[in-house]
Amino acid sequence: MIDQYAVFGNPISHSRSPEIHAAFATQLGHRFSYVRIEAPLDDFVGAVQSFRRSGGIGANVTVPFKLAAFALATEHSARAVAAGAANTLCFGLRQDDAVFADNTDGVGLVRDIRQNLRQAITGRRVLVLGAGGAARSVLAALAAEAPAELAIANRTLFKAQRLLMDLSPCFGDLHAHVIDVAALPGHRFDLVINATSASLFEDLPLIPPACFDPHALAYDMMYGKGLTPFLALARNAGAQTVDGVGMLVEQAAEACWLWRGVRPDTKPVIEALRLAF
Ligand code: NDP
Repeated sequence: MIDQYAVFGNPISHSRSPEIHAAFATQLGHRFSYVRIEAPLDDFVGAVQSFRRSGGIGANVTVPFKLAAFALATEHSARAVAAGAANTLCFGLRQDDAVFADNTDGVGLVRDIRQNLRQAITGRRVLVLGAGGAARSVLAALAAEAPAELAIANRTLFKAQRLLMDLSPCFGDLHAHVIDVAALPGHRFDLVINATSASLFEDLPLIPPACFDPHALAYDMMYGKGLTPFLALARNAGAQTVDGVGMLVEQAAEACWLWRGVRPDTKPVIEALRLAF
């Protein structure tokens, strides 16, 4: 039997992960299957168990099950612990019921920015917009790059404050802080990451154009939506703009590394996916 992987979510039909992993398989000369599984909202654990019983050895997990995936695991990577959520599970490492949980979103974002876009994070002023699951998953990885400043701004202020508090062990001496969106006009950043879901609804998170340094990079974690209102505003402000396709492929490549011990070349896969959107 060939190795079996899946991505769990609800809904899941939109997921591009099967085509990304199929491209990795072709590139690496590996044979494995990778399918979408729509788990019932009230029985994620049952869906995972049934997949394991049928021979599944690894899984990705997306909205709304990342917290449930973390809770289901018996072992966790440090980055999953920092995020309190998992997007990658490894089964079958042992004969028992052990499940290893990881979170590859943060490393996916950082690799896209550093390696694909050739932009530094170290020493730069970074603003993360949003305080949901995506922001939570990437803050520790961003902090590990030692930016000069790591700011969080969110429509609902207390959620950003809670996020800062929850992740404080990852920040060390870093200048990490929350900015009320009303106070954003007084600040300037080199890297602005939109980790809100505003772009999903063609909406714009509150971000004054003056927040973008003339050489800033504006990164929208949303993908497949073209020039989102956030990216359009950033471009008008003179910033370089990019969507989250690279992050999506890089987090998948990290899962491939965890499952199969090889790291695919992400560049052709990112290019193909961009053309497909
Ligand atoms: P959540 O639902 O957990 O959080 C949503 C966040 O967006 C909250 O902070 C919310 O603010 C904010 N928000 C929603 N609508 C608006 C708006 N109109 N204006 C301002 N803020 C708004 O979502 P996730 O964190 O899971 O996902 C966020 C985005 O990241 C999605 O677009 C998702 O597709 C993307 N993503 C991309 C990945 C990739 O690989 N490229 C990986 C993971 C996520 P409030 O707290 O006030 O409600």
